[in-house]
Amino acid sequence: MATELDLGSVYHLPSQLRLFFDYGRITLGEHRMIMLHTGAVGSLRKELIDTLGVDRARGVLTRMGFASGERDAELARKLMPHASDDELLMMGPRLHSLEGIVSVSPIRLDIDIANGRYHGEFLWTESYEAEIHLSNFGVHHEPVCWTQIGYAAGYTSAIMGRFILYREVECRGQGDRHCRILGKPLENWDDADGDMKYFRPDRVADQLLKLQAEVEHLRYSIDKDVAMGDMVGGSPAFLATCNLLKKAAESHVTVLLLGETGVGKEMCARALHGHSPRANNAFVAINCAAIPEELIESELFGVEKGAFTGAQHSRPGRFERAHGGTLFLDEVGELSAAAQAKLLRVLQEGEFERIGDTRTRKVDVRVVAATNVDLQQAVDQGKFRADLYYRLNIFPVVIPSLRERRDDIALLVDRFLQKYSARHGKRISGITERALDALRKYDWPGNIRELENMIERGVIIAGSDQKIDIADLFPCINIGRKEPALLDEVCDTRDAGRGSGSLKDMVDHALDHSTSLEEIEVLMLQAAVDRANGNLSLAARSLGLTRPQLAYRLKKRESDAGGTTA
Ligand SMILES: [Zn+2]
Repeated sequence: MATELDLGSVYHLPSQLRLFFDYGRITLGEHRMIMLHTGAVGSLRKELIDTLGVDRARGVLTRMGFASGERDAELARKLMPHASDDELLMMGPRLHSLEGIVSVSPIRLDIDIANGRYHGEFLWTESYEAEIHLSNFGVHHEPVCWTQIGYAAGYTSAIMGRFILYREVECRGQGDRHCRILGKPLENWDDADGDMKYFRPDRVADQLLKLQAEVEHLRYSIDKDVAMGDMVGGSPAFLATCNLLKKAAESHVTVLLLGETGVGKEMCARALHGHSPRANNAFVAINCAAIPEELIESELFGVEKGAFTGAQHSRPGRFERAHGGTLFLDEVGELSAAAQAKLLRVLQEGEFERIGDTRTRKVDVRVVAATNVDLQQAVDQGKFRADLYYRLNIFPVVIPSLRERRDDIALLVDRFLQKYSARHGKRISGITERALDALRKYDWPGNIRELENMIERGVIIAGSDQKIDIADLFPCINIGRKEPALLDEVCDTRDAGRGSGSLKDMVDHALDHSTSLEEIEVLMLQAAVDRANGNLSLAARSLGLTRPQLAYRLKKRESDAGGTTA
């Protein structure tokens, strides 16, 4: 049996260890080794345990030992190309001793590689790992020779060609006289799960980031209710709006929020509520356009049992639920005539009746209304009560469109990146400069909501740990593609219908200055190409042309120019 051989001397193992003092190298066979102070390894171990906890530290050290055992198995095969498997197996303990880790003596070794049988029992004395653990932590309640167990498993598994799991059944580190280890193929252990978890890589960083994302998500959901939420910005237009909102927040005044669709009216209403003395009471929101006309009254004012077919229970409306707090009425222009009358009364008198009820109820509710239609026009057309309009319009606040606050885009992008990478559990390392640039130049018909949706889509599309790029945001712009003509087909007309208020001014200007049609075309083409940084597909899209059409016009212009200079 191989256990009887003194392999170390047979293969001159110590002679394989070479120290090149002048070159700063130590080698064992062909492998570079290093010498470490056990005290230093002890502090590393202590730090691992202190920062990661015992379980994770044990995993890291076990896998480090496993890697080291595998390398030594490779070394043994190189050193002894003609050795039997038994001899190779016995070389592991020798190498382990030579490296100063532990002194190994076999107790029982029963090997049959061909049939996959392995049973190894060894005695360990002078375990360096037990020594450093004892000196740092004192006696442990479990065995502590984790790298060594990893090494034994790594070495034996590499030679056997199957996973051999070792366990310390006695350990100096837990107060035994010496360490004793037992190794068997994984499937021969009944209860290996507890041991095996230390051999599986554990992406601590991933888990930490995931937890961090959860915290961010929670933090976000919390401050959505009490603070400024997504209200970030530093542009003059934004700051002016914030100032107005803060002033309004201090009083009881009814506020009318105006602005294009998607500018964040509900967000502003929440912020206003959050900064008001009512912040600790309810914030109730309702979108009047989302509720059928025949139900809006009962939604707002509640209903008494039996008021109409289907009203089997009495229930309070939004006004009652918002008592002491704030009620946000979005798209207030959509209210039915009856609801308008009731709303006017509650604003003036602070009282109303539930539908089907005779009892008058009093509420203390601050109303914040919002609309993106022209209420004055609705009044003129007889669709909206003039007296209600004047009552609502006491303190109008116009929320700027995103176009009017482009300087805030970077801040908003940051905010949405945080929010959606947390929500989707994804790590995104930011946004590329050119993508940000494209966002700054875009026209934003859908305002902040559109930006938010776009960033969420970007977060979903972009790869983990990558930056969001233009193509992730504007799917029809594929920067890397070599056949840009294809793009013309997939590009939608997302800019169609965008405002063109100054177009007539431009035409007037051109006519006033006798600018020729050709000159205008040249200017338009050049401006589009410049804006798109030379990307013809992009430029073509902004002109409403296909790429070949644009290319043709540019070429024609070039040859015309060439003709005149020739
Ligand atoms: Zn031990």
